[in-house]
Amino acid sequence: MTDAVTILGSGSALPTYQNSPSGQILSLNDKSFLIDCGEGVQITMRQLGVKTARLYSVFISHLHGDHCFGLIGLISTLSMMNRTQPLHIYAHADLQKLLQPLIDYHCGDMLSFEVVFHPINPRKQAIIFEDRNITVETIPLKHKVPTCGFLFCDKGQKRYAYVSDTMYSPKIIPQISGVDLLYHEATYTDEHEARCKSTTHSTARQAATIARDAEAKNLLIGHFSARVDDHQLFLHEALEVFPNTRLAVERKTIEF
Ligand SMILES: [Zn+2]
Ligand SMILES: [Zn+2]
Repeated sequence: MTDAVTILGSGSALPTYQNSPSGQILSLNDKSFLIDCGEGVQITMRQLGVKTARLYSVFISHLHGDHCFGLIGLISTLSMMNRTQPLHIYAHADLQKLLQPLIDYHCGDMLSFEVVFHPINPRKQAIIFEDRNITVETIPLKHKVPTCGFLFCDKGQKRYAYVSDTMYSPKIIPQISGVDLLYHEATYTDEHEARCKSTTHSTARQAATIARDAEAKNLLIGHFSARVDDHQLFLHEALEVFPNTRLAVERKTIEF
């Protein structure tokens, strides 16, 4: 199987007719990982026929709703499908406090599988997952609440970096240097630069600058604000800095 990422949601907090909140399926070295789980992620997964039996781990970048409101629906659905293998969730420790009562209330004794929480410290760069072929490392980011991205390294050398909600943060460059594919949030266009700063997000141009300076092979941008209708504007501004840029279009799979 080729290494690829499938975009389930590439909008920011406010859903629009063209975007749902964040979610991606990463297929790396025959394994599937869910990265962020905004509202609606499970619906798109079912519509695309994503095989949930192969999904063992979920990585949540931070606890803003547009990155985790989809978890309870997903867990409830997996239980209705009689899943038996555990589901491992890597996230800030508060997630368990917030989600466990919902799981207990809505699924209770009927839950067909175990949900295993792995608390992570988003402020610290650390390896949080490792098996024979893959490691996953946190990438500390600059956002309103504790947030990290994730660097997935296949020991056969392929690397995918997921850089979730963040201000422009050149500090991450050494860690993601030379990645095969970088996903970087690009919430705003140049026109909204002041708002971008106050809400601790990045512009498309800033995302492209990170990709260029990190010598990433390819860049994927997403987390588009509802304030910008024409996504070609994001692409246009990013392309001026980094030519190998693509938009994270929902329901599309990007191989790398
Ligand atoms: Zn967000
Ligand atoms: Zn956020």
